[in-house]
Amino acid sequence: MLGLMQDWQLTLDKVLDHAARVHGGSEVITRRTDGKVYRTTYAAIHRRARQVSNALLRHGIRLGDRVGTLGWNSERHLETWYGAMGIGAVLHTLNPRLHPDQLAWIINHAENRVVVFDTTFLPLAEAVADKVKVEKWVVIADPDQMPANAIGAVCYEEWIAGESAEVAWGQFDERTAAGLCYTSGTTGDPKGVLYSHRSNMLEMLMAMGTDCIGISAHDVVLPVVPMFHANAWGLAFAGPASGASLVMPGAQLDGPSVYELLDSEKVTISAAVPTVWLGLLQHMEANGLKLPHLKKVVIGGSAVPERVLRAFEVDYGVEVYHAWGMTEMSPMGTIGRVPAGLKDAPLDVQLAQKLKQGLPPCGVELKIVDEHGTELPRDGESSGRLLVKGMAVVGSYFRHDDGTGRAALDADGWFDTGDVASIDQYGTMKITDRTKDVIKSGGEWISSIDLENAALLHPAVANAAAIGIPHPKWDERPLLVIEKKPGASVSEAEIKAFLDGKIAKWWMPDAVVFIDAIPLGATGKNNKLKLREMYAAGELTVAA
Ligand code: AMP
Repeated sequence: MLGLMQDWQLTLDKVLDHAARVHGGSEVITRRTDGKVYRTTYAAIHRRARQVSNALLRHGIRLGDRVGTLGWNSERHLETWYGAMGIGAVLHTLNPRLHPDQLAWIINHAENRVVVFDTTFLPLAEAVADKVKVEKWVVIADPDQMPANAIGAVCYEEWIAGESAEVAWGQFDERTAAGLCYTSGTTGDPKGVLYSHRSNMLEMLMAMGTDCIGISAHDVVLPVVPMFHANAWGLAFAGPASGASLVMPGAQLDGPSVYELLDSEKVTISAAVPTVWLGLLQHMEANGLKLPHLKKVVIGGSAVPERVLRAFEVDYGVEVYHAWGMTEMSPMGTIGRVPAGLKDAPLDVQLAQKLKQGLPPCGVELKIVDEHGTELPRDGESSGRLLVKGMAVVGSYFRHDDGTGRAALDADGWFDTGDVASIDQYGTMKITDRTKDVIKSGGEWISSIDLENAALLHPAVANAAAIGIPHPKWDERPLLVIEKKPGASVSEAEIKAFLDGKIAKWWMPDAVVFIDAIPLGATGKNNKLKLREMYAAGELTVAA
């Protein structure tokens, strides 16, 4: 027997409709790329997002077509976001930190028909334009700030100016694709995670829970985490849904700029990767500053360093929500809250618990398994591959489908995160290692395979292995280990000069070391675990 309740489809247009109707006056404040602060409201964004919809429809964009953005967090990025999703187009956030070749590959794979971009990214758009089949480029700019460009890009404001704000939003199945985000977090080609309206809506409701991020209409939320990082961790939905004010930081994400917004806009909740918080804390310590308004910070993307946790919680009285998740999980996986069983425990015990990655909200299932796939006990000791299921977890990657729709999952429907973890008696998960062959620097992935492939093109290189080594600011930085061909000679400087231009600048290894033979594992692959151990034991000498 089916229930007899209304079939209210979980489509995301309803989020902005709700914001305009119930919280229409709540502000969205953007620091624009020229540094000026611009203020608007959900009501205005709602109206303009509908004009974007009509501009897209006029171009011929229909249900399922992909619309790309290369944008910082801004009110106009939000308009494009809801304008595309509202008519059932797929909003594809592109990561501007990628190398142009990678970006072009992704744009082609996704078949973006329109790309809306910030002026800052014009050189990037121009660099990829002749490699992709984008039909229309739109620059987020006012007419008087329109940059000269060689790709026929039109001005955003002129593009939407004559459009009506009347349009039919929604009216499609809640399982319709809403957003697309590629992750290069695993080896091989980047993989597209295709979110549905339903999965994003459920993720948003989960994130709004008190033991998740928990947002109220009284909050002022600063998502430093970019919209191209798994939907700004859900905040681009949870903000309007709750009626909280959103403060969009634009391009300036350094400590002083973030502090200025936290202070001037009286921000109560903010979210970012650890590197951003390290920058902020350094700025505050150097200038004797305080955080009188901020109540909580969400820190994720990489493990929270203990000194960051202690600084916020003990020195500044700001509660830390340590979050673990993945693009493939929309992204919420766990939140580092103090479990009920430890609510009266001493501070140090509670802080130790918060350093772990945390508890899954209802809607996410976790388990850890050994090499045979057997579930391991939740004893805080056993550690194994971390598998997940959930209402906003990937089923298969975009265009990687094997026909079953479950290409990313095992036979029982579990998704392997590539992380290794333990789970304690309170249900709190702790990441202990990683099986995926990647380096995460400042919250962004560096593909070790791509680095190695680039190095292998050098005639003196017989084998190359890139590993992540600990770094106080970036969490990890790449170290490139090279085995030379017999009799060949090459220096660190020559390797770096060779890599220059072949990889994104920030992927450049911090150091290149040479060893006689790169250790290999049982299947003949580079044994990175062994290399990391050798590095920790001081056996890979890095010149100062
Ligand atoms: P992404 O898809 O870029 O969000 O990256 C997801 C991956 O980042 C996870 O599978 C982890 O390897 C890592 N990660 C994310 N959050 C954390 C965290 N709080 N602690 C440790 N690793 C994390």
